[in-house]
Amino acid sequence: MTRLSLARPDDWHLHLRDGAMMGAVLPHSAAVFGRGLIMPNLVPPVVTAADAAAYRDRILAELGPGARFTPLMTLYLTEATDLADVAVAAASGLVKAVKLYPAGATTNSHAGVRDFDRIAPVLERMAELDLPLCVHGEVTDPAVDIFDREAVFIERILEPLRRRHEGLRVVMEHVTTSDGVAYVRHGGPRIAATITAHHLIINRNHILAGGIRPHYYCLPVAKRETHRRALVDAATSGEASFFLGTDSAPHADGAKISACGCAGCFTAPNAIECVAAVFEAEGRLDALEAFISLNGAAFYGMAANPDRIELERVEIAQPLPGPVMVGGDAVSVFDPGFALHWRIVNKGVDL
Ligand SMILES: [Zn+2]
Repeated sequence: MTRLSLARPDDWHLHLRDGAMMGAVLPHSAAVFGRGLIMPNLVPPVVTAADAAAYRDRILAELGPGARFTPLMTLYLTEATDLADVAVAAASGLVKAVKLYPAGATTNSHAGVRDFDRIAPVLERMAELDLPLCVHGEVTDPAVDIFDREAVFIERILEPLRRRHEGLRVVMEHVTTSDGVAYVRHGGPRIAATITAHHLIINRNHILAGGIRPHYYCLPVAKRETHRRALVDAATSGEASFFLGTDSAPHADGAKISACGCAGCFTAPNAIECVAAVFEAEGRLDALEAFISLNGAAFYGMAANPDRIELERVEIAQPLPGPVMVGGDAVSVFDPGFALHWRIVNKGVDL
């Protein structure tokens, strides 16, 4: 039996949604993670410092008194984002990043950016404030193949943006390609990337071969196996610029199993166990703590969580967690497609 004691992990990319959905999914993140960087793509989006403070209050109310989980907030960048308001948000200490969605790139991104010149003054101010920019790194040009959209984004948008704003710190969220990994790896100390649990496990065959599997459809879409391998190599390398952001993105099953199914994998209940299995298969359990607990905090200028979790390897395969229920709707948990032999002990919070 193997037991690992690790600093409590953080989730540097998390969708909690709002209302009843938030009430159902939040306990799963709060049971394991110390902090979560909460994505702002609600309807309507979290645009201002006041929006973020109100959303944070709703999360804290749902957590209840005595909860150990800390939500770290983000602002949704629009072409109308106000410079002074961004400064207020940063000064509040509650908002830790601003999220850039190219308009139309993913779930609830209609209000995102079309003309990147128009956000230049905000990015300038963010560089002065040392407030990181989190990017959904896909172009939305319909002429670009969906499997190429990350690589084209780097070339057309990200590299020119970083040249123009050299002081700006950037996180390439949910990187999915060897192009993205290489770009981050050679991009210096002001760029980092989050990697999800599911992109470490699935490639595009999981979605499309032998029948279409809507629960594996997410954005950015999983790519071919060579890209998955690049992600695994980056995550298990221990390099400071790669850390876990689950992008856990719950949708009711009915919205995924549909003629036009929603993008997102709901991994909050088993992300850490899935990632541990990936690191074990690589013989790199020694690098697990850096990826899930240390590198992200360091990038965001925070100390690692002071408390710890224990991960235990067990002989008996652990059952896939059942779906989370939201009213009458089921939200299925990500199925890694192999037996999980890891479980977390001493979570500290009862579900
Ligand atoms: Zn996301």
